[in-house]
Amino acid sequence: MDQVTDSVYAETKIRGCNPGYVVTSDGVVVIDTPQLPTYAVKMRQEAEKHGTIKYLINTEYHVDHIFGNFYFKGAGIVIAHKVTADNFMKVTPEINPYEYAKEAIPTDDPEGEKIWPDEKTYFENPNRPTIIFSGDITVKCGNHTFELLNTPGHTPGQLAVYIPEEKVAFVGDTIFNECQTWLYASDVDAWLKSLDRIKGLDVEYYIPGHGPVCTKREVDVQKAFLLEWLAAVQSCIGKGMSKEETVKSIDFGKRYKVDIGQEYMLDHVIEHNAAALYDKLTNQR
Ligand SMILES: [Zn+2]
Repeated sequence: MDQVTDSVYAETKIRGCNPGYVVTSDGVVVIDTPQLPTYAVKMRQEAEKHGTIKYLINTEYHVDHIFGNFYFKGAGIVIAHKVTADNFMKVTPEINPYEYAKEAIPTDDPEGEKIWPDEKTYFENPNRPTIIFSGDITVKCGNHTFELLNTPGHTPGQLAVYIPEEKVAFVGDTIFNECQTWLYASDVDAWLKSLDRIKGLDVEYYIPGHGPVCTKREVDVQKAFLLEWLAAVQSCIGKGMSKEETVKSIDFGKRYKVDIGQEYMLDHVIEHNAAALYDKLTNQR
């Protein structure tokens, strides 16, 4: 774990999102959970050394932020935005998140095989959110304040968890630092506004959803990259190119690697981003 401040810890070097926790005078608040079972169990043990876990906040519904909730059962109340709760481990024609999490086990966490739940056991109780809200809410825990800010874009229920006493914000996938940005079905216009919102916070450190802990500078870098994506796809559309031609001509693959453990997905991420953005900008979805 990286110790970001006296009370804030984050894990930025494992496959999946960057989970973390904050130690307060009245217990521990966890933000997102490791996707890989061994790391989820380990992080829970580490967090509990500092006190009882009071709350677990999920910043979005993508599997790499929520699968590990299963290993935090009985450890605090799970809080999430309504969109995250509604889509929690939801199986869609595009993805079965349980299968997606399972695929990583042999390569990234062979030890985790022993504590891997079968599908039925898992879905009986994946440890879903029970405090569910829309907009923003504030949670107090001991001497710390947690402002849960809805920062839509990457997903509509996206949260930033701002802790003013620490001058820290966990911003989830609103920032991909030094790695490829997953656009998928994102609303890029909303995302840009959310970047402005998090930049306005009185913060020294941001814990991004992926990549190293960062500062205000990386908020601008993320914004510039989103604008580049928009401009690139918009320009192809302007030239009358088809979706297939657009996907072929986009060349952001050399810019960054995909985050830890998913380097092999580079072509998929770029192609999927380009296709999804093309559909969005031409109103096909
Ligand atoms: Zn995500």
